[in-house]
Amino acid sequence: MSAATATDWELVVGLEVHVELSTRTKMFCACPTDFGGAPNTRVCPVCLGQPGSLPVANRGAVESAIRLGLALGSEIAPTSQFHRKNYFYPDMPKNYQISQYDVPLCSGGVLEVPDGQGGSKRVGITRVHMEEDTGKSLHVGGSGRIHGADHSLVDYNRAGIPLLEIVSEPDLRSAEEARAYLAELRAIVLALGISDARLEEGAMRCDANVSVRPRGGEPGTRCEIKNLNSLRSLGRAIEHEAERQVALITAGEAVQQQTRHWDEDAGRTQLLRTKEATEDYRYFPDPDLVPLEPDQTWIDQLAADLPELPAATRTRLAELGVPAEAARTIVAAGLTPVLDAALGEGADPVEAANWLTNEVAGWAGERGLEPAEVPLAGADLAELIALVAEGTLSKKLAREVLEGTLAGEGSPRRVASDRGLEQISDTGALEAVVDQVIAEQPDAAQKVRDGNDKAIGALVGAVMKATQGKANPQLVNELLRSRLSG
Ligand SMILES: [Zn+2]
Repeated sequence: MSAATATDWELVVGLEVHVELSTRTKMFCACPTDFGGAPNTRVCPVCLGQPGSLPVANRGAVESAIRLGLALGSEIAPTSQFHRKNYFYPDMPKNYQISQYDVPLCSGGVLEVPDGQGGSKRVGITRVHMEEDTGKSLHVGGSGRIHGADHSLVDYNRAGIPLLEIVSEPDLRSAEEARAYLAELRAIVLALGISDARLEEGAMRCDANVSVRPRGGEPGTRCEIKNLNSLRSLGRAIEHEAERQVALITAGEAVQQQTRHWDEDAGRTQLLRTKEATEDYRYFPDPDLVPLEPDQTWIDQLAADLPELPAATRTRLAELGVPAEAARTIVAAGLTPVLDAALGEGADPVEAANWLTNEVAGWAGERGLEPAEVPLAGADLAELIALVAEGTLSKKLAREVLEGTLAGEGSPRRVASDRGLEQISDTGALEAVVDQVIAEQPDAAQKVRDGNDKAIGALVGAVMKATQGKANPQLVNELLRSRLSG
């Protein structure tokens, strides 16, 4: 944000996050939810909205919603209702979306957002409600957007997939806070295992309500920004939108309430439509669906069975000596189960955390892999660390071995052996190389004999080169010193 904005203006942001649940079947029918089928093959009369078909709520999806509500400290409504949100769009065959309106399943709650300085900020949760996803339009020809396309196709495979919408209070005051909020919510969703929460693939989607006001002044008019499919887009869009609004107000114009589209390539927001009012949707209770009345003993059981949540995981890792930054990366990447499994095999917590943060998280990120897909067992990580500790592998060779293991070549010990990467820690095998290097570099050798300690570096380097980096450097050092000590 510009300097003027940062000092004179206050940013007010609330987020609406949609999470696609990883249930086996859709929200109100038995169609499978798995990704990638041929268009319009995962459909039935219910999700195609054919007359006479009857929806039935998916118990697994309700359970996921309650678990997220419990994790956020929401109140779980003893009775909640599904409403019809009426509007026309070709990707929605029923002409209404089943959603929740005045009585959502979960109300209130708090998300503690880490501020990056060891503290946290409490962001209010307004509600978590259930709804169903729409189909997907594909605009063919032109830019790929609807305007200028030759024609459009629609695929209803996604229509009816269960969604949760998590609405925050407008408590966020900067782009960084908004990003931290989304990252923390994603980490909670991953810890609960209710969605794979892939932002880029749309399994987690975020809309931002952004307004500006003079510091401490009256609230401004807000705009809703759509199409924020990465943490980076979210941050950039909020900063851009705040600047746009400040420029309008400073020029004496009014901010109009609008829905705007974030154009990642152009780096700006564009008008999508003037904002509809809620009443335009003509919400009414869906007469085909009974109210949701979750049993209190069921809710209590789900509460008792909640897994360790990200904040608690970070605290536990800190107590084990893992640096805060590494703990944040591991938790955000969903790699805690791998770490815990490695610790169970006796791995050193700090070493294990370092490997996951410095090597594995980046490796997975580059390939767009989700935590559950990272092909590294905790036992393999523990074995890799042990191989380094016992001197079989140098750190450098261990990185190569890790790549082999991640590529499916087997356990670290197996990869090291198959690729011939074991460190040479055998004195007998190294003595001949050391002697040869001393013979080849008499000047450097003489300097070491004369007490110039720095000269030994060149000799160690030559031995490492002759052994393709496999010699144990510490052993090489010792051998050179004993050979050259008179
Ligand atoms: Zn269906």
